[in-house]
Formats: sequence, structure tokens, C-alpha cells
Amino acid sequence: MNEREKKEQRSLPPCPNPQCSQSRVVRNGSHRGRPRYCCRTCKTYFGETQGTPMYDLKTPAAKVAQALLVVMRRGSLRAAEEITGHTYETISAWLKRAAAHAEALTQVLASDVHLSQVEIDEFWSFVQKKRGQLASRTLTLTQTIKHRDEHGRLLSVEICAMLGTTMEPTGTVHVERLNGALRDRLNALTRKTHAFAKRDATFDALVGLQLFDHNFHRAHRALRLPGGDDRHRYHHRSPAMALGLTDHLWSFHELLTTRVPITP
Ligand SMILES: [Zn+2]
Repeated sequence: MNEREKKEQRSLPPCPNPQCSQSRVVRNGSHRGRPRYCCRTCKTYFGETQGTPMYDLKTPAAKVAQALLVVMRRGSLRAAEEITGHTYETISAWLKRAAAHAEALTQVLASDVHLSQVEIDEFWSFVQKKRGQLASRTLTLTQTIKHRDEHGRLLSVEICAMLGTTMEPTGTVHVERLNGALRDRLNALTRKTHAFAKRDATFDALVGLQLFDHNFHRAHRALRLPGGDDRHRYHHRSPAMALGLTDHLWSFHELLTTRVPITP
């Protein structure tokens, strides 16, 4: 490949085939006004948005990203409907696409993470008129017993093994904090309110995208490092940055336009 060809390759989307040895993408006409491409090496034909949640959507990615941001920050689809002007059903469809993509992307990025300890906590909420109780997990590995005096003051914490051998002193403080953050941010999870998700799929998508938001999008104060650049005192990091999965804070626009490798 000469310099001119290399420069041209940089302006074109890369070949989406993970098995492709060398991406040699050329333009290949258009479909419904959108450009299509072909990789000369592996003969994969693809569109600009293939493998992303934007595939086959007419709305620009920036507007979809904006609507999703409103859902995540305001905690409800109704709020996003009112603010952005898109219908509830449309935003719900975008939310499900984005959540499924966020999960696939997280799988790809986090495939090399080795876990030494996992915190599990039960987490429940109601969907549609409090008929179904979701995600009630009863798996218990260790039991934490808090001993208190008659005034309710904490005296000591006892941790004993319920299943398997005794582990390193553990607790559920991190997962409890994450559950707390989710309850703060999503109306459907807030305690003692009338809000609830109408369908399981919407509930799962809301929680899924909120987890992506938490891990990749938001900078966490406890993870910041001193010594940013000339203008910033701190280098702000998300949990994914702290784990070395990515080197920057993601945005919803980036999520919507980043392709997960597809097989032809
Ligand atoms: Zn290829």
C-alpha cells in the first residue's frame, strides 16, 4: 500500500470482519442515499452504520445520543419524550438497541479482565403494577452479621462462610453503593414512588445502559488522579479507565457509532 492508498484508507471505515488479515476498503455505491463499502481482502460488503445501533435508523446519531442522555440523567422515558419531542416508543426502541450494543461492547472490551472477588447482592424492583419481582438472586457465599447495641450502634461485623471455604474478609459495600447509585438515577428503581417500567425489556435496557453510563461515561471522584494537564488539577477517570479497558471517557455518541466486530 502506498502513501496515497494509506491516506485514503484512513478516511474510510475499517473492515468490520474480525478475521480479516488486512483491511482494504473501497467505496461500493450507495443504498437509500447512504454509502456502502467493500473490503477487497475478505470481500465483506458493509454499510456505514452496520454493526452499530444506528443501523437502519434515519435519525442522526447526535439526536439519538441526546435523547439517551436525557433518559439517563432524568431517569425516565416520559421526561425524554417531553424534552426531545421524540415519541416514547421511538426512544424506547433506541434505548433497547443502545443497551444491547453497550453490553456487546463491554464484553469485547472487558474480555481480558480477571476477577479475584465478586460481590453479589439481591436487587429487586417491580415491573407493571407490581406483579413481577425481578432479579431476586438468593446465591449466598458469605454472610455478614452486624452486631449492634440496644441503641442500634454498630459494635462489630462478623463475616462467616455459607458456601465453600472462608474467603478473605469481604463485604457488599461496593455493590450496595452501585445499587444505591442506580436507585438514585432511575425513576423505575427509586423507592416509595409510583414510577415503574412497563415491560421487562425496558427495565433491562434502562439498567443495562445505566451500567454502561456508570462504568464508561461518568468520571468517579474516588478514581481521579492528581496531576492532570495545565488547565485541570486532576486527571478524571471512569471505572473502565481505572481498569485499563479504555483511555478516555466515552460518550453516548461514541457508543452509537462504534462498531462491534461482526462476522460476514
Ligand atoms: Zn476485510
